[in-house]
Amino acid sequence: MSDPLARLLEEAELEARRLDEALAQARAARADQGDDEHDPEGATAADDWSRFTALRQANERWLAEIARARTRRDAGAYGVCLVCGQPIAPERLAVRPTADRCRDCAERRA
Ligand SMILES: [Zn+2]
Repeated sequence: MSDPLARLLEEAELEARRLDEALAQARAARADQGDDEHDPEGATAADDWSRFTALRQANERWLAEIARARTRRDAGAYGVCLVCGQPIAPERLAVRPTADRCRDCAERRA
């Protein structure tokens, strides 16, 4: 049995651990550089830090989206549009397993 939500969650959690490691490394690199603002490597470490922080935040939002989809599924409401209550097309769920709106409602909101 393939469970797309479980697979997504696994991938997202793997990504979270990878990003946490990258953040820890960026933090260590920044600490090594101290307060020397003229260090040419300084900007690089700060850039890495902001980049990984942004990625980690996006990853958090994605994890939350997957968790919401799993909650809906546990409640028996998976694949049902939150707005109009109609079933979400299987093709749409195949592409985006966490979708909580049918295509019409998603486009109307955008
Ligand atoms: Zn809808």
